[in-house]
Order: sequence, then C-alpha cells, then structure tokens
Amino acid sequence: MRVSVVGSGPNGLAAAVIMARAGHDVTVFESADKAGGGLRTDAFDGAEGTFDVASAVHPMALASTFFRSFELHRRIEFHLPDISFAHALVGRSAVAYRDLDRTADELGRTGEGWRMAMRPLVRHIDGVRALSGLEITPSLATAFAALSLATATVGFSTLRGEARALAAGAVAHGAAPFGSLAARFVGAVLAAEAHATGWPIPVGGAHAIASALVDDLVAHGGRVVVGHRVTDIRDVWQPGDAAFFDTGPRGFADIAASTISNRYRAALGRYRYGNGASKVDFVLSGPIPWSDTRLREAGTVHLGGPEREVSRAEKAARRGHLSAKPYVLLSQPTRLDRTRLPAGSDNEIVWTYAHVPNGSAFDAAEVITSRIENFAPGFRDLIVHRESRPATFFAGLNTNFVGGDVLGGRVDAAQLLTRPTSTGLPWRTPLPGVYLCSAAAPPGAGVHGMAGWHAARLALKSVGQALPNLSLT
Ligand SMILES: Cc1cc2nc3c(=O)[nH]c(=O)nc-3n(C[C@H](O)[C@H](O)[C@H](O)COP(=O)(O)OP(=O)(O)OC[C@H]3O[C@@H](n4cnc5c(N)ncnc54)[C@H](O)[C@@H]3O)c2cc1C
Repeated sequence: MRVSVVGSGPNGLAAAVIMARAGHDVTVFESADKAGGGLRTDAFDGAEGTFDVASAVHPMALASTFFRSFELHRRIEFHLPDISFAHALVGRSAVAYRDLDRTADELGRTGEGWRMAMRPLVRHIDGVRALSGLEITPSLATAFAALSLATATVGFSTLRGEARALAAGAVAHGAAPFGSLAARFVGAVLAAEAHATGWPIPVGGAHAIASALVDDLVAHGGRVVVGHRVTDIRDVWQPGDAAFFDTGPRGFADIAASTISNRYRAALGRYRYGNGASKVDFVLSGPIPWSDTRLREAGTVHLGGPEREVSRAEKAARRGHLSAKPYVLLSQPTRLDRTRLPAGSDNEIVWTYAHVPNGSAFDAAEVITSRIENFAPGFRDLIVHRESRPATFFAGLNTNFVGGDVLGGRVDAAQLLTRPTSTGLPWRTPLPGVYLCSAAAPPGAGVHGMAGWHAARLALKSVGQALPNLSLT
C-alpha cells in the first residue's frame, strides 16, 4: 500500500516506522529543512555548542509502549539525572530525586505527604501509564493507579511547604489551567515518572531520537522528503492509499478542504489552543550558581517560588498578561552531556522557557534572566551568549504550534477526553485510510509516539494486518 505521512514529528515518524516495517511503501513529507518536528537540535548562532530548539527532557521516551517496543533505549544513549526535577525556592529548594524515599526524607516535615501521595503511583506505574495513554495494556494495576491518581490529585492540595511547592511546579509543567483537575492529573503523572524511571535527556540532544526513527524508517525502505509543505490532500492520498497527518486539526482541515464535509471541518475548527511559550537559551561560562547547591545536578528545574507565586503567574498568562515573576522551566543538559560543546570547553548550556499568552511576541530574555538570578545570584555575570525565541517564533516554525502553543492544543479536562473531536476513535477521519496522528490526538503532547502508534494500528487493522515487531534485531 502507498503510505504518505505529512509531518515528521515523533508521532509522524512512529506511524512511518510501523507502516514501513509492516511492508508498506512509506514517504514522509516535512515542510521544515530537517526531520523531527519538536525533536530539533541546532547550533547556536554566534556561540559554540548546540541547543534543543523545542523538546529537551523526555520522560515519555522510555515509558511509552511505542518507544519501549522500538527499544529506543538500545538505539541511543540517555542520561538519567539522579535529580529528575527540582523546584527552586529562595533558601532551601525542593528536590525530586529518582529515589522517592530520599525525596521525602529531604523534604523534611513536609515529606511524608509527598511520600504518601507518590508511593502508590510509583508502585502502579504501569497503570498510571495506561491511564495517561502511554501504555496500551490496562491491567489490574490500572484500577489501583486510578484510585491512587485520584488520591494524589486531591492529596496535592493538602501538601504543605516545600512539598506543596514541588507539586505546584509539576502541576504547572503540563500547562493546563493551574489548580484544575487536568493540571493536577498531568502533574501527578509527571511526578510519578520522575520517581519510577526518571526524566531522561538524550545524549547529543533531542534530534538523536528523530535520527533513530529516520534511520529505522530508511532501513525498512521508507524515505523522508524535507522542505516539502503539503497543501492539498490530493497530492499525497488517493482512495486505496493510507495517509497520516502529523498536523494540527486546523492544518488538516485546510489541506483536506476539498474532500471533507463542512460539518467535520467545523468540528476540527472548534479545537482550542492554550498558552504560548517564550524560550531563551543560554551559553554560560560555568555552572549556574544556585543558592541551593543541590540544584547543580538537577536535570530540570522549575522556577516558580511558593505555590501562590506559581498560581499567580500561570493565571496571569492565561488572562493574557505576563507576570514579572513568571513560572519558568529550565534544563541544564551539559551538567551531564558534554557532547553538546566543543571538547575542552568549560561552558554550560541552559534551556528555558516561560508560559506567555497565546500569540505573544514578548521577548522573555530579561525576565527569565532576572528570574534565574532570584535563585542563583551571580547568574547574569556568567552569560556568554543568549538567544531568545518568542511564542510567535514557534508558531512560524511549526504550524502545529498555533500561537506558540508548544503543546499543540489546550490541555483541559474536556479536551483531554475529546481531542481533536469527540469520536470513539479520534485518530480516524471520515476519509477512508486517512488518519490524524499529531499531539492534537490522544494521548496529547510530548515525545511518546503514541498518537502515531494508534493511527498505524488502525490502518493495519483495516487491511487485516497486525502490528509488526519493532525491536532492534
Ligand atoms: C519549546 C518547546 C519545548 C518542549 N519541551 C518538551 C519536552 O521537554 N519534552 C517533551 O516530551 N515535549 C516537549 N515539547 C512538546 C513536543 O515537542 C511536542 O509535543 C511533540 O513534538 C509533538 O509531536 P508531533 O509528532 O505531534 O508533532 P511535531 O513535533 O509538532 O511535528 C509536526 C511536524 O509536521 C510538520 N508539518 C506540519 N504541517 C505540515 C505540512 N502541511 N506539510 C509538511 N509538514 C508539515 C511540521 O513542520 C513539524 O515538523 C516541547 C515543545 C516546544 C516547542
């Protein structure tokens, strides 16, 4: 069967790999100059070293059914920091180690609440993954996990002090309306992964994941055409073919305008977008001088202060304003991965972004610099180079990131359950053999390949084929 995949993000490539391994003739069309979508690592413009343009830290790349079947861990190397994430506070910060007990012990008096909320989730991590769409075989663990997740999401609101701040950072990470059930659910899942497996960082950068997928595709007869924007579905799909769209619902509606009904088009048009991201990448002459020196070894740091500050900042962004003290996500990959810098360099690379209103052209360089300085006095003096990319940059880079919404769609309870439209098999479109497989389809944002996996499974089922073996050998 002739198979076209429009878009080469992790979901598009997942679908492509599966279809090629099942013996089909696969071509991936990508409008950007290289494959990978959000898996993009570029050289700095004006400094030595490389940085991740979009995704940087990949909790789901070791957890999802697709990547586990694909044996990604055997194809590329990951660093797994002992500290999955930390929440910077003035004075003593809150730290989430891979080791749950160490986390709870170091949280002091507030640690017991964290231990009680997290232990059942870590114990039933397969169930947590099934509930969040990363794992496809629900088991008895799913039922326990459902109960534990419900308890944890409520439990988050009863935490105190440092533990409460740690939870607030995880909750804000998913960019759902702060304090909502959806936000707490996403925060609890991310925190559970932090303790169960960790938050891995690929050696060399996110593009290593894209390269592993492209290599496998090519090894099984597929091809990727870059610099090719698909504008009309009739150029890539005829009845009898299969086509996978790693595009947002609006992008698909435009491309398929000639072939879909007005009703379906209107349904796709109702899909909503969330906050944007304004990103700043730094080259420093040395490690960030965190007041709490434990943070030097953290893979990811949430900068937000106490919960009320995180809440204020997140609510302001949602209302279309930017807080002077925004919630910032920060990763410091070169604490472990020195391949991103020239040999012998003592520099450090730091990746950050802040949540800003959708469509904002705001340059966050100064506000993020000051925010880091709050928790690491002297940070500013170490800056060798700084590159800033507002939300409008991401909207231009990738049409899936509408208004700079880097999660490809608003994360809230309704849209978690009905993305991109409210149908039983949301990857399927009314056109036979045509599937939606981007982060706008379940299970949503992040690098897991599961939307591609679901779409490919449906396509194979329709021609009586089972999923092929995806393992390395
Ligand atoms: C700043 C930022 C930080 C992030 N951080 C993380 C992180 O740390 N961890 C994590 O897991 N996730 C992170 N994400 C989110 C993650 O990158 C996305 O959720 C993920 O890449 C979505 O994958 P996808 O396959 O759905 O599509 P995408 O990665 O969005 O790729 C879609 C591709 O389709 C192409 N395309 C679209 N329309 C067409 C067309 N008409 N013709 C041809 N090509 C087309 C686009 O150019 C793009 O390359 C981040 C994203 C950003 C931007």
